Amino acid sequence: MNDVTQANDLTIDDLPIRDELRGKSPYGAPQLDVPVRLNTNENPYPLPEPLVERITERVREAARNLNRYPDRNAVELRTELAKYLTRTGKYPVGRENVWAANGSNEVIQQLLQTFGGPGRTAIGFEPSYSMHGLIARGTGTGWISGPRNDDFTIDLAAAEKAIAEHRPDVVFITTPNNPTGNAVPPETVLALYEAAQAAKAETAGALVVVDEAYIEFSHGDSLLPLLEGRPNLVISRTMSKAFGAAGLRLGYLAAHRAVVDAVQLVRLPYHLSAVTQATALAALEHTDTLLKYVEQLKAERDRLVAELRAIGYEVTASDANFVQFGRFDDAHKAWQEILDRGVLVRDNGVPGWLRVTAGTPEENDAFLDAVRELQCFVGDTPTPPKEQSA
Ligand SMILES: *Cc1c(COP(=O)(O)O)cnc(C)c1O
Repeated sequence: MNDVTQANDLTIDDLPIRDELRGKSPYGAPQLDVPVRLNTNENPYPLPEPLVERITERVREAARNLNRYPDRNAVELRTELAKYLTRTGKYPVGRENVWAANGSNEVIQQLLQTFGGPGRTAIGFEPSYSMHGLIARGTGTGWISGPRNDDFTIDLAAAEKAIAEHRPDVVFITTPNNPTGNAVPPETVLALYEAAQAAKAETAGALVVVDEAYIEFSHGDSLLPLLEGRPNLVISRTMSKAFGAAGLRLGYLAAHRAVVDAVQLVRLPYHLSAVTQATALAALEHTDTLLKYVEQLKAERDRLVAELRAIGYEVTASDANFVQFGRFDDAHKAWQEILDRGVLVRDNGVPGWLRVTAGTPEENDAFLDAVRELQCFVGDTPTPPKEQSA
């Protein structure tokens, strides 16, 4: 037998990994060192100095107790998250309705471990957030790719048909959607919730996860009030975008308390470190300051939409901190041409389209200068500005 530890042509596929992981690629937005990085929907502003001071204080306190495990139930943090949701979401939420984890990706993983898994399926309406499908795969949950219209709205009739046919255990609705930017109307979410419950009526129904990672940037309100009377509905949130704290890794959900109890069955003990809890609590003390940046970013987002349309690009209406623009004969070529001008945007693999995150005014100007010079629109001439509904 070969000594495999010495073989340098050994690949993943030579290992006894699970069959469904063979030949697959990991999540990987390029982390390139370029002057203007507008590719991962981060907040471009560093945390304000008074908040950095407060984090330092709270982490110093936490450090004195690092010999002990953290609060397994993150009670103080969940209490403060519930207050934030109640204040901004126009619906009263208690600590018992809130659960937190290391990024909303871990929240979603815990939900799929609890409500999905081998022999079960989840559906999303694509193009959407690729991690829903990747986490489904990682948890052994079958993935169903549901349809969208050409304008990237959810095709309700087709979605209801797919739900009736596949009877998924978990339904993902991302609003505002990533990478397209458009919000899903509440009526559509309600119709999909009803369809999902009807399709699984002989069991306890299906879990509907509304991913509101970008809701603070939306022209509309959170769907939090829809939780009333809907025990199978979950709203997922994150501090990675509006709170400008992608490096913190803090995501959370709001749902019926029974859902919070259910995810306790799969969460790792002490999953949320004392340092993370202390940092998130400090950030929540500065909510009002952080949300002021959100207002600036919303204005910059609207400016990007207007200027891209004025140049002649097609733009999908955006309720997020990013904008999907096109169309290109070859989106990847356009991505490279923009990168050659020192600006990193995102090629999400949506044919003809690219995505740009709203950055600082200077970063956005650099981006707009770069795309003004671009020579690879459809047909090589800018298509005329197109009316889009808001
Ligand atoms: C960025 C993003 C998240 C955030 O994930 P975290 O793990 O909280 O950083 C979740 N959902 C969507 C749709 C996103 O775009």
